Amino acid sequence: MSKYIDRVLKDVQQKNANEPEFLQAVEEVFTTLAPVVDAHPEYETEAILERIVEPERTIIFRVPWVDDKGVVRVNRGYRVQFNSAIGPYKGGLRFDPTVNLSVLKFLGFEQIFKNSLTTLPMGGGKGGSDFNPKQSPHTPGQRCSDREVMRFCQSFMTELFRHIGPNTDVPAGDMNVGGREIGYLFGQYKRLRNEWSGVLTGKALSYGGSLVRPEATGYGAVYFAENMLATKKENFKGKICAVSGSGNVASFAAKKLITLGAKVVTLSDRSGSIYVEKGMTMKDLEAVMELKTVTRGELSDIAAKIKGAKFFAKARPWQLADKLDCAFPCACQNELDGKDAAYLLKHGCSVVTEGANMPSTPEAVAAFVKAKILYAPGKASNAGGVATSGLEMSQNSEHLSWTAEDVDSKLRGIMKAIHDNAAAAAEKYGHKGNYVMGANIAGFTKVADAMLAQGVC
Ligand code: NAP
Repeated sequence: MSKYIDRVLKDVQQKNANEPEFLQAVEEVFTTLAPVVDAHPEYETEAILERIVEPERTIIFRVPWVDDKGVVRVNRGYRVQFNSAIGPYKGGLRFDPTVNLSVLKFLGFEQIFKNSLTTLPMGGGKGGSDFNPKQSPHTPGQRCSDREVMRFCQSFMTELFRHIGPNTDVPAGDMNVGGREIGYLFGQYKRLRNEWSGVLTGKALSYGGSLVRPEATGYGAVYFAENMLATKKENFKGKICAVSGSGNVASFAAKKLITLGAKVVTLSDRSGSIYVEKGMTMKDLEAVMELKTVTRGELSDIAAKIKGAKFFAKARPWQLADKLDCAFPCACQNELDGKDAAYLLKHGCSVVTEGANMPSTPEAVAAFVKAKILYAPGKASNAGGVATSGLEMSQNSEHLSWTAEDVDSKLRGIMKAIHDNAAAAAEKYGHKGNYVMGANIAGFTKVADAMLAQGVC
């Protein structure tokens, strides 16, 4: 590692000692940048690394709201506006009890490079709250009602609105923030500002959303994997795929995989994993999507209704199949560890494509890179969602709605461009086939050069 990287990394570790997820994300990026930092001494002179790890602004705020029983509840809200060198801050909102500053800084940091890779003018940001829409505050085992979610979202936006705007910061969804939440947040923003603008993406079609945005992250991950497979003259026909998660990213990744002739043998959630040896049908998948977006239940509720499905309570999906070709981690950070990676490699897995952000632990990443399999890091392979958010912003500012075919073909084009850029950067710096290095270097260089051009700010 270069001395410059080493020095900045030590400083970051010291200053952020209680932020493990953020440190993990910084270490993962910095440990791959030596070739490019050595080739550009001006990055050190202008303190690019020191600046890129410090968010431009972090907002933390109180979110008071009233539950259905009339009790006042208080959550903590955040927006980390990390880097605006190449465009307005852009990144999702996550509502989950695990949300804290470390998690949001890791996500915001990743987002800088991901957004840069999309080739669209978007800076990096992330936000959210420790609010848990899946657990009612007054009735154990029940979810928050729609009205409670609405009141929470309205209160959250009552503070957030003063910090965002279509040319400043454009949030989107993330874990537990889907169409319902985006609608409530958008309604409150419009009311407070007295203006209709494309300030949030992931909107419904009836008020400025883009076709294919819900599908984009999952589809995009599969398109990225298709590009990797094409380098080996292979495709998805007959490939056995393990997918984790059963939310937005997982379900659309699974849908595209089934469409392309792959066999999707697993899905998971916090209750456990289902394993279907013969592969899930489109009808099975639709039942899971209905469960997750309409009735809002757990996989354990539905496993018995899926033909041939076995349910493994509290288990992750990686060690259930005796043989498999591909893995798509699409649930959450650090959900695939070194032992899982060893199992996957031993049982034939040669393609790992991350739909989630940082789902593989550092040990798992090291194992995949060492084995020289086709391994796509999330910041490259899950960039289809934010890229399509960028397309939603373009449609809003032009007051146009493109067709699904238009958006899907642009998404395919962007995923190919991300793949090719990452592959070219890896090759240029002597690490052909290493998409981790390629994605980090390609994403970083564009942002670093924009920061250089804009002076010390
Ligand atoms: P989502 O719709 O809320 O789904 C998340 C899924 O992961 C759910 O099935 C959830 O299970 C499961 N999960 C979450 N935490 C878990 C845990 N600790 N253990 C086991 N399962 C867990 O969220 P999403 O939008 O699909 O996001 C999934 C991942 O993709 C996240 O890392 C997100 O940052 C990343 N991502 C999303 C987008 C996007 O456009 N949505 C774009 C880029 C990256 P339950 O149903 O039981 O909660």
